Amino acid sequence: MKDTEKKLVNEMKLKLPSYSVNESAARAMVSAFCAQQDPKTGEIADIKCAVSEAVTNCIVHAYRDTVGTIYITVKLYSDRSIQIEIRDRGCGIEDISLARQPLYTTDAASERSGMGFTVMESFCDKVRVSSKCGKGTTVTLCKRLSSR
Ligand code: ATP
Ligand code: MG
Repeated sequence: MKDTEKKLVNEMKLKLPSYSVNESAARAMVSAFCAQQDPKTGEIADIKCAVSEAVTNCIVHAYRDTVGTIYITVKLYSDRSIQIEIRDRGCGIEDISLARQPLYTTDAASERSGMGFTVMESFCDKVRVSSKCGKGTTVTLCKRLSSR
């Protein structure tokens, strides 16, 4: 199926404050919504992991020392692809390609390993990042579930 032929079959929008407890809440709600597509156990684990990394980045980097809103949109398509957009209005990323390098972190003091984007990339088919300093960041995770 071509990208232009796929149809949106369902959509969920979430808006959460960047409290650290909302990392597991977001992970659980996104995976529960995706479960209607009957994914394999491993695929659900991949989605949970990638969402967890992206939401954690909003909490610890985008809204460091403050509380802001995290916007999550999940779209399910007829070709079994899933698109998860995680957006913040936080500090933004100065150099996106540098931030995506394995082991790159701006927060080594908190024992971060700089592996969040690498984890997202390895558990998804595609990861898009757009960001503007002082305006915020949008991370889009795309994953196609295997056929059942
Ligand atoms: P780890 O995820 O392994 O705990 P990390 O969060 O530093 O460490 P990545 O998730 O790969 O590693 O992110 C790399 C860097 O990109 C971060 O250190 C941070 O500077 C920047 N970054 C990532 N997401 C955001 C965001 N939403 N807003 C602002 N900066 C971000
Ligand atoms: Mg991270």
